[in-house]
Amino acid sequence: MERTFTALKPDAIKRGLMGEIIKRIENKGYKIIGMKLMNVPEELAKKHYEEHLGKPFYERLIRYITSGPVLAMVLEGENVISGLRHIVGKTSPDDAEAGSIRADLCMTKEYNIIHASDCPISAKREIELWFNENELCSNYKTALEILMGI
Ligand code: ATP
Ligand code: MG
Repeated sequence: MERTFTALKPDAIKRGLMGEIIKRIENKGYKIIGMKLMNVPEELAKKHYEEHLGKPFYERLIRYITSGPVLAMVLEGENVISGLRHIVGKTSPDDAEAGSIRADLCMTKEYNIIHASDCPISAKREIELWFNENELCSNYKTALEILMGI
């Protein structure tokens, strides 16, 4: 089982889209093992997006992520890193496939409502950055796991 990190960005919270997005994650069968609603300290936002330091949109990105609450989550599932990126869709909603979260629920590349780790190295780094191991609840079975006998 793989783990990934995802975060609903402040516009998702302000627009009341948490339930809609969580429903898509749960319907797919991914298991939510960590979840917290938080105002993101600037230092954490900068560490999270350090790969974008120096890019023209960097300052706005940090302002955006710190502009309101973020719902940070850790998910577990088979191929969840690439699978979640597929459900989330490409960075710009104009390029994202219809049916993806970004295509269906937002209009701009800048305010694209959700983050998802892009590879195993990022997933590990981001989970460790946002969560302590004792905040993760992997000790329960989802209905799908019970059905599959795992
Ligand atoms: P995320 O890392 O948030 O999951 P992503 O991996 O699809 O998104 P990145 O290239 O890592 O895309 O960009 C990080 C975030 O920076 C984007 O989600 C978006 O909010 C913002 N961003 C990226 N490119 C641009 C751009 N050209 N103009 C404005 N904002 C941008
Ligand atoms: Mg990214």
